Amino acid sequence: QPATRSYKRVMLKISGEALMGDQGYGLHPPTVARIADEVESVHKLGVEICMVIGGGNIFRGLQGSAQGMERATADYMGMLATVMNALAMQAALEAKGLHSRVISAIRMDEVAEPYIRRRAIRHLEKKRICIFAAGTGNPYFTTDTAATLRANEMGCEAIFKGTKVDGVYDKDPARFPDAKRYDNVTYDEVLQKHLAVMDASAIALARDNNLPIIVFSLDEPGGFCGILAGKGTYTRVHG
Ligand code: UDP
Repeated sequence: QPATRSYKRVMLKISGEALMGDQGYGLHPPTVARIADEVESVHKLGVEICMVIGGGNIFRGLQGSAQGMERATADYMGMLATVMNALAMQAALEAKGLHSRVISAIRMDEVAEPYIRRRAIRHLEKKRICIFAAGTGNPYFTTDTAATLRANEMGCEAIFKGTKVDGVYDKDPARFPDAKRYDNVTYDEVLQKHLAVMDASAIALARDNNLPIIVFSLDEPGGFCGILAGKGTYTRVHG
């Protein structure tokens, strides 16, 4: 892969937990603001930005179904959690003077725009940051799949998946000091070795559309912008 590659349009996927800081739950406004800084520096490069934020800091479908709730109902609650995170991110972007839209896969017109593909593309062309909320709108999916789906629909050149570590490792680097980071890894290897990147449906959807996934550390200040400028360490998942 070339050292410096200029991206026109990208998808940034972050988990809900990325917004909770050191708290065990919910939203930590300074952390949300710090991620907004990262987005701002990429926006300044002229890159068009799509975002998908998870909901795990508030509610996960599996957690609800483990408590005896019907899975689909619990999943809808999880999707609603992503809307809250999206609104928090929009507020943080707005505080910096950046224009954004929250676009929901579940209609709630008082709060967010409904998802209309061509309209979302128009927002991107006008350099508005599009935050896609409510996942895919379907239970039994994850926000990783939603990020892959929207990235394909929007014609993004890559998904940037911000995590706690600077790439994909052969085992958990938090537990194994000898864990090895991949610079490059194929979709099939990720699936076969069950590497922790995204769930299998998201990986398969990226693979079938040849959409690269770049796994990088969100804890590294300036990391997102740096990688777009060809610096830093990360793993590129590709065909
Ligand atoms: N969810 C769903 N369909 C989707 C996306 C999300 O049902 O298309 C639900 C699911 O219950 C999931 C929750 O929303 O557990 C939160 O999303 P996710 O677990 O992907 O969040 P993250 O782990 O990225 O914070």
